Amino acid sequence: MSNLDLKPAPTRCGGEAGTGPVKELLTGRQVELGESTEVRRLLPNIGRRMVGAWCFVDHYGPDDIADETGMQVPPHPHMGLQTVSWLHEGEVLHRDSLGSLQTVRPYELGLMTSGRAISHSEESPREHARLLHGAQLWVALPGEHRHADPAFEHHAELPKVTAAGLDATLILGSLDGATSPGRTYTPLVGADLTLREGAEHRLPLEPDFEYAVMAMTGSVDVDGARVEPGSMLYLGCGRRELPLLARTDSSILLIGGEPFEEQIVMWWNFIGRSGEEIVQAREDWAKGARFGEVHGYDGARLAAPELPAVPLKPRGRAR
Ligand code: MN
Repeated sequence: MSNLDLKPAPTRCGGEAGTGPVKELLTGRQVELGESTEVRRLLPNIGRRMVGAWCFVDHYGPDDIADETGMQVPPHPHMGLQTVSWLHEGEVLHRDSLGSLQTVRPYELGLMTSGRAISHSEESPREHARLLHGAQLWVALPGEHRHADPAFEHHAELPKVTAAGLDATLILGSLDGATSPGRTYTPLVGADLTLREGAEHRLPLEPDFEYAVMAMTGSVDVDGARVEPGSMLYLGCGRRELPLLARTDSSILLIGGEPFEEQIVMWWNFIGRSGEEIVQAREDWAKGARFGEVHGYDGARLAAPELPAVPLKPRGRAR
């Protein structure tokens, strides 16, 4: 998915290490993705830029697209990050400049590592399910790996953790002894938890990680705080377990990781370490260099928005 804000604000990312357990309810904001899809953007948020290396979370649907084209995100570039495509309903057809052509279905992992440069498109196939419901997440790459070769992974089978009333699927990283096959570059976790109404569970956590929970469907009390679609609960660091109580049949995403200490500049679909890098990436995309070509998408590629008038600068981890 692309950040299609016409005037994306420069984003300063940076976790706050050692804050200890907190409960901050973050409200998503509505963002139009092209003409067809509206998303709830939960990260970056005014109050919180990152959770571990997770730096971008969009939640979309469930939308009835039976008589519509559905998601249509034309070819666009990425740099310095990984994208995670995660679906509960429907399917997304991924094409990229490496030649990948992959349909991603519910509870399958589509993981694209941009490294120094990649471009891709995402679309609802012509023949598609009635409902589209999913999340798009980005993970910032650490300095030592951000110039890595681009790669795309698809994992149709992911490890699960089950307990009474709970089914957890590992998207990335490890939880309660299960580990996703998706490649990661910093210590982090992403998991999808399905909870039956009334289920109570204490989820084991890593005290060195900071965490957040968002709801895909339903209503869950997370350490006593109500989490429903459209919001994200930031939980801070220093927790060994997380009490969950499902008020209805629900599903939530848990994201977490070691606080990301590097200062980064995030603008449009790029993550860099300086404003100059971002300007160069934008120029390279405009002149058709570096990011390769996506074949087979029926339509023109996306043009980068105008840069802001003020120079893009990495800043501290302050909120
Ligand atoms: Mn994208």
